[in-house]
Amino acid sequence: MIIFKKQTDIRVYLKRLEAIGIGFVPTMGALHEGHLSLIRQAKKENDLVIVSIFINPTQFNNSEDYTKYPIKVESDIKMLTEAKVDILFMPSKEEIYPEEKDLNNDNFDFGTLEQVLEGKMRKNHFKGVAQIVSILLNTVEPHKLYLGQKDYQQYLIIKMLIQQLNKKVTIVLCPIVREAKGLAMSSRNVRLSPKAHLEANNIFKALTYLEEHKSEKLEEVSRKAKEIITQSNIADLEYFEVVDKNTLSPLLSIEKGNTLACIAVKIDGVRLIDNILL
Ligand code: AMP
Repeated sequence: MIIFKKQTDIRVYLKRLEAIGIGFVPTMGALHEGHLSLIRQAKKENDLVIVSIFINPTQFNNSEDYTKYPIKVESDIKMLTEAKVDILFMPSKEEIYPEEKDLNNDNFDFGTLEQVLEGKMRKNHFKGVAQIVSILLNTVEPHKLYLGQKDYQQYLIIKMLIQQLNKKVTIVLCPIVREAKGLAMSSRNVRLSPKAHLEANNIFKALTYLEEHKSEKLEEVSRKAKEIITQSNIADLEYFEVVDKNTLSPLLSIEKGNTLACIAVKIDGVRLIDNILL
């Protein structure tokens, strides 16, 4: 695996390769099986697989979340080498944002899509995501971009971004990888105490409850599903919403094949998100 830290170096290297299918998996590191599933999918479908690790400051609206974001460079490099990734792009903050003014992400607009759910709870989060993804896409120029359903709203935003930028890149959306008891894998899970980890399993229980009762009255089923989470005294539910999977606008009943249920909850101060397509 070749590791690049400078944009110009990776650009020069890639320019020399002609007619090669490039698959790209952007991440913030502290890699786990969820990331690896994207990488394995990319390995199957491309000649060359590039992974990036960059904890993007402009998408964090909470400075504590940013400073506490786990960093595991050594084990990440080991995992990527074992997964036979071709290139790791691991720039510094200064490489991506050399000047203070570069941190400004105001010139992105995704309308209502960035104002609901995660966008409502984390102001300017998606502008920051769009900012880093557009920089990375310009650097790597991939043919296929691998994203996880775990961050479903992010997928919709990046899909819109790609249209706005007029890029020819195909998005491959990969299913959520879960622990044995259903908790969606996340780099933030390492911050959960054993008790919090146990109670975080209620998130998947609530989503499963909704799935199993999807033909019943939504209002009633949602209320019961929420209770599964809020019964824990260390869980602070931010939202539990059932929405149209394309527009993210709230639904009054489940429309088969068109419905997304999504949750954000703080368990013992650690913010977790999850969703299910119904
Ligand atoms: P992150 O490092 O959290 O920014 O995630 C990088 C990519 O991995 C994003 O496209 C995520 O949606 C995806 N991802 C993170 N966790 C999972 C998971 N448990 N299952 C599938 N994809 C995931």
